Amino acid sequence: MSGFDVQRVREDFPILRQEVRGRPLVYLDSAATSQKPQAVIDAIVRFYQHDNANVHRGVHVLSERSTEAYEGARETVRRFINARDAKEIIFVRGTTEAINLVAQTYGRKHLGPGDEVLITHIEHHANIVPWRMLCEQTGAVLKVIPVDERGELKLDEADAMMTERTRILAVSHVSNALGTVTPVKELTRRAHAKGIPVLVDGAQAVTHFPVDVQDIGCDFYAFSGHKMFGPTGIGVLYGRMERLEPLPPYQGGGDMILSVTMEKVTYNRVPHRFEAGTPDLAGAVGLAAAIRYLESLGMANVAAHDQELLAYATQALESVPGLRIVGQAREKSAVLSFLLEDIHPHDVGTILDREGICIRTGHHCAQPVMQFFKVPATSRASLALYNTREDVDALVRGLHKVLEVFK
Ligand code: PLP
Repeated sequence: MSGFDVQRVREDFPILRQEVRGRPLVYLDSAATSQKPQAVIDAIVRFYQHDNANVHRGVHVLSERSTEAYEGARETVRRFINARDAKEIIFVRGTTEAINLVAQTYGRKHLGPGDEVLITHIEHHANIVPWRMLCEQTGAVLKVIPVDERGELKLDEADAMMTERTRILAVSHVSNALGTVTPVKELTRRAHAKGIPVLVDGAQAVTHFPVDVQDIGCDFYAFSGHKMFGPTGIGVLYGRMERLEPLPPYQGGGDMILSVTMEKVTYNRVPHRFEAGTPDLAGAVGLAAAIRYLESLGMANVAAHDQELLAYATQALESVPGLRIVGQAREKSAVLSFLLEDIHPHDVGTILDREGICIRTGHHCAQPVMQFFKVPATSRASLALYNTREDVDALVRGLHKVLEVFK
């Protein structure tokens, strides 16, 4: 594959160079959180060693530098997702906070009793609970687009569920539990035809393939730094300026105001209106470094690697006796949820751990989709740009060991 050498990529990730439980580490849990390349670690250390000061308010040189680094990171994010304007990039703690922000600003402003919020059955709890809470606060109703046995959205039913009472459609770009890639561009087109704004939860997408928010056409797009090789504690809410401009603030505090008297507060402009208090400066710097790292590899190369490995892993897992992959969407990202005979996923994960293999087991913060498939939990192996066929082979060997233990 041109320009993508996975062995060289692995050398960029110091954490991968270790043994655990006396075996080489096999990390297959990147959908929960990804590992960090040295470039990201270095950028954070450099920021604290050279540039650290609070942003926006200072007149001194360090404050100038840190403001430049922070606002420069905003521009780097803009470029990465092809937003029109860096002001459309709001730094938040992660996808969860981004969605809560939209629910509590746009949602509180526009929803009343009998209005509808439309989500889907494959959402992560982060794209369910904030809307449930909003419905409890406003008297609105939560509607859910169903899925089929493959784990794909039933698009024909989606149309009928977009009514004149629908105030927002919130949908994930990639399901963390199944790997389903949803047709967000098409859904946005259909929703917009009825005047419905769209929020896309991109937590599992930005790490696997190029995302262009203008091409999708969505109104809001949310993602987390830590899932895309950046640090924890930083994430992004993109919002189209015409959507953000009329919104009230989310939290109150420093930086989100233009002036304050005891009688009246004038709020700051977008994006600062939504960034109350001292932001995660080093986090933003680290996120920008992660983006530059991804750009240096090329997102198209990353996407090709992930898809090739997903195809290999799917075939390899299907060769394991008694293994059933849950979620077989025709368009899938690098997530493999599976059941092994009737062995509890927790036992599968524990035995694999003894072999140095890290997977995730449980409901993956997506209980409704587990309920749909009538399972309390699955085992989930998730792949990233540093994973290899050898990692997949180790997983398969580990699963055979699990079968031996339970024979
Ligand atoms: N949405 C999806 C699809 C996710 O996979 C996750 C995390 O697993 C989230 C939202 C929440 O992300 P965070 O915990 O970084 O806020």
